[in-house]
Amino acid sequence: MNEKGLLIVLSGPSGVGKGTVRKELFSNPKTTYEYSISMTTRLPREGEVNGTDYFFKTRNEFEALIAQDKLLEYAEYVGNYYGTPVDYVKETLNKGRDVFLEIEVQGARQIREKFPEGLFIFLAPPSLSELQNRLVHRGTESSDIIASRVEKARKELEMMNLYDYVVENDHVELACERIHAIVLAEHLRRDRV
Ligand code: 5GP
Repeated sequence: MNEKGLLIVLSGPSGVGKGTVRKELFSNPKTTYEYSISMTTRLPREGEVNGTDYFFKTRNEFEALIAQDKLLEYAEYVGNYYGTPVDYVKETLNKGRDVFLEIEVQGARQIREKFPEGLFIFLAPPSLSELQNRLVHRGTESSDIIASRVEKARKELEMMNLYDYVVENDHVELACERIHAIVLAEHLRRDRV
């Protein structure tokens, strides 16, 4: 039996619905993984709460965290920093609890190098035009930012082969069921004696 928890990394292009899938997973009492709340220099969106959605930081604060080696990974994404607090992840895994990260692809690639024993799941959109529609309908970003996110997504889609699993986000509930099944199977595989 493995004593350490499993590091589950959910990644994929912005607008694919990672946030929605993550919220749905964590609203389900069946979910036993711990969500690692990220640090970001992005300003809070309406309704977002510091310490629940993100730890909101200034650029100076974030750069100090980088200098102190407090981040397992970080990336600059559309003008803002995003990163994963290393202490929380390590302490939680050492307690034997699974940790769930929902991050963009540059960060996932860094973790793949540092932490190859993680479980890497790529959330894929049914199609790129669908992705663009979703970003427009979300209505939280300007058209310039949407264009740059869609261009980024095109490159990100080429990276899905680096992942252990690709889960298509055609329906949120189905995507969550697939993720639960993957995590369960991975535990059974790793805990086999
Ligand atoms: P948003 O600004 O829409 O909340 O997030 C933008 C992107 O940053 C999303 O793709 C989200 O998954 C990603 N993200 C959130 N937290 C982290 C993190 O800690 N590290 C990295 N690399 N990306 C993150």
